[in-house]
Amino acid sequence: MRAAKAKYWCSELQVRVADRCLQLHGGYGYMREYAVCRGFADARIQTIYGGTTEIMKEIIGRDLGL
Ligand SMILES: Cc1cc2nc3c(=O)[nH]c(=O)nc-3n(C[C@H](O)[C@H](O)[C@H](O)COP(=O)(O)OP(=O)(O)OC[C@H]3O[C@@H](n4cnc5c(N)ncnc54)[C@H](O)[C@@H]3O)c2cc1C
Repeated sequence: MRAAKAKYWCSELQVRVADRCLQLHGGYGYMREYAVCRGFADARIQTIYGGTTEIMKEIIGRDLGL
């Protein structure tokens, strides 16, 4: 359950940070030749593989008795 909390929070935070970095770079942040583009794609998958964010919420909710 604690691992699910950590996975949920850290991966969603990584997405938010990468999103802001991309925004800072403007259109260049979207172009594949810029590292920030790769960083965004790599961040986004964290909320999908190894247990999606929704599944982490399921595990946490179950522990809370919801
Ligand atoms: C690059 C990559 C590498 C991977 N490597 C591995 C690996 O090494 N080993 C391994 O075992 N798997 C691996 N996977 C599979 C990964 O674990 C699955 O992608 C993940 O379990 C999600 O399953 P899915 O893609 O079929 O999405 P789905 O299960 O079809 O989910 C689609 C969407 O529906 C949501 N959803 C699903 N069920 C619920 C629910 N009950 N309540 C609310 N929302 C729900 C999900 O959160 C998601 O947003 C990998 C996937 C990718 C993309």
